[in-house]
Parts: sequence; structure tokens; C-alpha cells
Amino acid sequence: MAKKIIITIDGWSSCGKSTLAKRLAKELGYIYVDSGAMYRAITLYFLRNNIDIEDKKETKAALKSIKLEFVYNPVSQQSEMYLNGENVEYLIRDLFIAEKVSDVAAIKEVREFAVAEQQKMGTKKGIVMDGRDIGTVVFPKAELKIFMTADNAVRVERRFKELYEKNPNITIEEVKNNLEMRDYIDSHREVSPLRKAKDALILDNTDLTENQQFEKAMEWVKKIDGRKSI
Ligand code: C5P
Repeated sequence: MAKKIIITIDGWSSCGKSTLAKRLAKELGYIYVDSGAMYRAITLYFLRNNIDIEDKKETKAALKSIKLEFVYNPVSQQSEMYLNGENVEYLIRDLFIAEKVSDVAAIKEVREFAVAEQQKMGTKKGIVMDGRDIGTVVFPKAELKIFMTADNAVRVERRFKELYEKNPNITIEEVKNNLEMRDYIDSHREVSPLRKAKDALILDNTDLTENQQFEKAMEWVKKIDGRKSI
């Protein structure tokens, strides 16, 4: 029988990390955790409650009032993010959250809060988690670490299509600026900056279809968990 492992997927914004992570989790019967959703939900709470992120005391106190949960929705067949009992899955994907999330995610206390929750979810293995620091900080001993990347123009186009469906007033320029800003803050922050873990395998999907990238990742899984075929 294949052994259960931890798979981490890190990389730049809009590289298709969650698409690959969800498909791997489905194929392997693993839990999928979108760690970015947690930072997005915390950002929503901070914005709604006018939390001053420069004020450590206020930030720490606010985190004590936050309960995050992933709840499986049998209709969408996806786990959705709940913030203090409210389904915020749709809201947290909006650009107004994307504009603030990297500043919130750079706060040490916020990261400690989120990382502790993420580590609890991985105690039984059999998990695929995507984010920015999963292979470096959350699960440094994960059996399979993937670092995803793709050309900037391709990433902007993908995210634009996604956001345009929700809001036809959005411009490609806004999306491009947001991705560049987030990547810059995420890779330059002091605490857990976005880095490729030394032992991570690089997956550049600029010219790969979703099937091709999935097959490539499954080849890596097979080598590690001992399964014979996909
Ligand atoms: O993955 P997603 O784009 O939804 O993540 C939103 C933001 O959350 C990222 O731009 C980053 O600032 C933050 N994040 C992080 N560490 C993670 C996951 C996300 O700092 N593990």
C-alpha cells in the first residue's frame, strides 16, 4: 500500500498552485489546504474591524477573536473558508482583499497564528498544502516539495480571466500591479519570505497543460510513496 506523505506546493501568485494541489489531493484521497485562504480571511477580519496593523497589541488581541475553519461543501465538492462561522469563500477572492493581504501576511504574529493551525492539520500526513512558506517553514520535513513558477504574462492573464468573471470592470493593469506588488512583498518580508526550499522540485508550467503538470507531479509522488501506477 502507498504510504501517506505530506506534499507542499509553494510559488509565486497565480501560478496554478491550487489547481494542481486540488487535483493531487483528489487523486490521492488526501486533504487539500489552501493556506492563502487563511491569510485572506484574517485580512477580511482586520478590514471589517478597522484593525491597525501597525499596532502589535491590537493585532494580537484581534487574532484571539478569529476562528478559521475549512468546511467541505458537497455541492461544489470543495473545502470552503469559514471565518467565525461565516462562509467567506467568495468574498476573500476579491481584489480588495488581494490588495491588503500581503501586508497582513508579513506580520509575525499573524504568521505564528496561521502556521500553528496549518501544522495541526498535517499531523496525520495525507495532505497537500499550497502557499508561500509551506516547504520552508510549515512542513520543512515534507516528503515532496514542489516550487511552482510560470511566466509573468501567463500568470496575469490567468488571474485576469478569473477575476473578470466576477467583476467585468476590472482591468488587466490592476491585476498585473497586484500580482507584482504581492510577489514583491511576499519575497522581501522579514518573516518567512517566499523562497524555494533547497530540496524543492521546480515545476514551470508556462507551456504545460493542466494534465501535463498533474502527470509530472504524479511521477514525483510515485517515486516517493511507492505506488505502482497513477
Ligand atoms: O495563495 P493566495 O494568492 O491566495 O495567497 C494570498 C496571499 O497570502 C499571498 O499573496 C501571501 O501574501 C499570503 N500567503 C502567505 N503565506 C502562505 C500563503 C499565502 O504569506 N503560506
